[in-house]
Amino acid sequence: MARIVVVGAGVGGLATAARLAATGHQVTVLERAETVGGKLGRYVHDTPAGPFHFDTGPSLLTLPDVFHDLFEATGAKLDEYLDLKPVDPIVRHVFPGRGPALDSCADPAEFVARIGAAFGDRAAADWQRLWRRAARVWQASHRDILRRPIDSPLDLAALAWRLGDLAAIGPGRTLRGLGRRHLSDPRLRMLLDRYATYTGADPRRAPAALVAVPYAELTFGGWYLRGGLGTLADALLTRCLDLGVVVRTGATVTRIDAAGGRVHGVRLRGVAAPVPADVVVANVDALTLYRDLLPSPRRLTGLTDRSLAGFVLLLGVTGDSGLAHHNVFFPRDYDAEFDAVFGRPGRGVRARPAADPTVFVTVADDPVVRPAGHEAWFVLVNAPRHGTAAGAVDWRRPGLAEAYADRVLDVLAERGVDVRDRLAFREVRTPADLDDATGAPGGSIYGTAGGLLRPANRGPAHGLWLVGGSSHPGGGLPMVTLSAQIVADEIGPAW
Ligand SMILES: Cc1cc2nc3c(=O)[nH]c(=O)nc-3n(C[C@H](O)[C@H](O)[C@H](O)COP(=O)(O)OP(=O)(O)OC[C@H]3O[C@@H](n4cnc5c(N)ncnc54)[C@H](O)[C@@H]3O)c2cc1C
Repeated sequence: MARIVVVGAGVGGLATAARLAATGHQVTVLERAETVGGKLGRYVHDTPAGPFHFDTGPSLLTLPDVFHDLFEATGAKLDEYLDLKPVDPIVRHVFPGRGPALDSCADPAEFVARIGAAFGDRAAADWQRLWRRAARVWQASHRDILRRPIDSPLDLAALAWRLGDLAAIGPGRTLRGLGRRHLSDPRLRMLLDRYATYTGADPRRAPAALVAVPYAELTFGGWYLRGGLGTLADALLTRCLDLGVVVRTGATVTRIDAAGGRVHGVRLRGVAAPVPADVVVANVDALTLYRDLLPSPRRLTGLTDRSLAGFVLLLGVTGDSGLAHHNVFFPRDYDAEFDAVFGRPGRGVRARPAADPTVFVTVADDPVVRPAGHEAWFVLVNAPRHGTAAGAVDWRRPGLAEAYADRVLDVLAERGVDVRDRLAFREVRTPADLDDATGAPGGSIYGTAGGLLRPANRGPAHGLWLVGGSSHPGGGLPMVTLSAQIVADEIGPAW
């Protein structure tokens, strides 16, 4: 039995803790915030009409089997803890101009039929061709990448990919290039491009292999959890406590002791005595771990770009908008948005809030989350991360957040959804707020953006492991849960 300290109670940290405790280890989770869940955050706004409950992070759960597996591995059934509801449409896509919207769904044949009805036979045939390729990429990545450690480029190169797999994955090709090659309709290209943002990346730089993301979503479905996605954090916490995990909130780790090439424990802010450990699992961002928590700062190889951040509005809305659960309102010029959000530092173009961004609106049809006669809206737009470098924006600049919130509501009104005179209240969450709440550097949602090779789960000292969205296999709830599985398997059971 090893004494294991998990630094951070995000989904990756809690999932690892539960798996390790279930295999006989003595596990302590140390979390700097007062609540668990990390980016899977929640907020309650009380009004005379009643409380509004918001998820401030994820709004869509995909790959539900990953969560069923997690609960089963810890000796429980997911359905006893969570109420999963399939969402249909998964996303309603509203394109610029007055053309038809396109509703995605988890039935590939039905989705092709919807594409055909909205955009014509050629678009439907294009999508089918892309889909066949996406299936091959999904199978290869599911088999070889998502469930095993990838420590170095050599590991990737050594995978026994068949030539067909390699051709489908298309190393060196971008998601944008893939869309151009297979899709003639500009609206379908936009739809495909958007999946780059699921990893925080620009589709013009993101690898073509990300076509596996829509494949997974539109094959295994998009899910909502009754009461909000935050109930997943409650369920994981309960599972951890039932298995004997000690979870300490308000406990900030300031250093990982790693002398002689192996970990010995961690130091807590305001506490003189170290917390001893044989194994440390870091659920903090990989950048924070390497730069701030190790005894001597290290260069983190493989960390090239940072993911984009998000600008969020939490709206209490009166009446019934008639919107779907998830709605995406695309801009006329998607590239102008990516140029704004990432900047082009090489050409002297600073990042800035996009003037005409894509707007993502989630309205859960769940009476638990809002008073009768009202809706709780979660509005998200892609945003530059917080900071002072050329690729970032100082979101604490006085007046900026409120002015941009006005702009986002104006953009929505221009796209036919004017909610400005139906607001019971509005709250704003900038990338700087996400940084404060979760320690995500600059409020980056997904850590390192993009490629197949992220910081490895195996840390630079013996007994040190990385879990969560900034390490392999990447961000998003199912990926961080898979990273927990990889790390727990590598550490192995106590017996
Ligand atoms: C706005 C938004 C929308 C999203 N939408 C979706 C979605 O629809 N679907 C989806 O699947 N994913 C979505 N995601 C991504 C998803 O939320 C994340 O990938 C996932 O929750 C990250 O989990 P993690 O394990 O990496 O830990 P994190 O959530 O990053 O948690 C890390 C934890 O470590 C703690 N910590 C940091 N430093 C220290 C320290 N020094 N000592 C102790 N504790 C520390 C933090 O407080 C935090 O609790 C979204 C994220 C955001 C922000």
